[in-house]
Amino acid sequence: THSTAEKLAHLDDILRSMERVLVAFSGGVDSTFLLARAKEVLGDQVIAVTAASETFPTREFNEAIALAQEMGVKYMKTEVSELANENFVKNEPDRCFHCKDGLYQHLNELAQKEGYPFILDGANRDDVGDYRPGMKAARSQGVRSPLLEAGLTKQEIRDLSKEMNLRTWNKPSFACLSSRIPYGKRITQEAIDQLDLAEDFLLKLGFYQVRVRHHEKLARIEVMPNELQKVIDYHETIHKRFKEIGFQYVTLDLQGYRTGSMNEVLAAGSKEQNA
Ligand code: AMP
Repeated sequence: THSTAEKLAHLDDILRSMERVLVAFSGGVDSTFLLARAKEVLGDQVIAVTAASETFPTREFNEAIALAQEMGVKYMKTEVSELANENFVKNEPDRCFHCKDGLYQHLNELAQKEGYPFILDGANRDDVGDYRPGMKAARSQGVRSPLLEAGLTKQEIRDLSKEMNLRTWNKPSFACLSSRIPYGKRITQEAIDQLDLAEDFLLKLGFYQVRVRHHEKLARIEVMPNELQKVIDYHETIHKRFKEIGFQYVTLDLQGYRTGSMNEVLAAGSKEQNA
């Protein structure tokens, strides 16, 4: 096993050998760190591209653009549509594959046009193991994952981000809003909008990590166990707002926040760790 410093040196070597890169930039912990390293190593031979889409909250999009500006890197905004893809909309367990396949296909076209030989994503060491359809799409579209190649874990990426003074170092992990909708239920703009508003409301109340799971007229709120009491404290205001948003029943999940709670219904072995 290698030390964090060795992995960082390896990451920088990988980036240096690429010379000119397009970073698929979501403004999350991983791709922000990757972008910062790429800029450090390659200077202006780096471009960050953030795609707006139906399932990517405007809040996250604006945040990504702000980060790219703060970091002083070249960036481009682009747009993709997931809801135009029936394979995505029907929301089967391979949904993620179709989303990322569309995104990376689009980025490949951009990269070719703008003359960038490499497209990079923010996948890291912790993303290996579970079945990850999004990573399968990255591989099939020739997208590279330097953080993963260097063996960096999420915790190491957070630690290094802190050392580099990146304000994303303690940013909660975010996953696509469609992961809040049970498999087999079609993804609709309406459900996505409801989820966006509902989670936005909870985040503004000061919750650190939240998921609102969409079960038709019923919302199931997941927060970290240490924030369960806070939901009770705010129960009236939350209930009122969620009704305005269109939920009929507003419930609190007593187990609390966990990644991939929508995957619990899948058979072991076909799990997609996402959300
Ligand atoms: P995720 O599946 O959300 O963890 O995203 C995996 C990787 O895809 C991220 O690390 C980014 O490199 C890339 N990515 C995700 N969302 C976007 C987006 N809206 N625009 C550009 N790249 C993205």
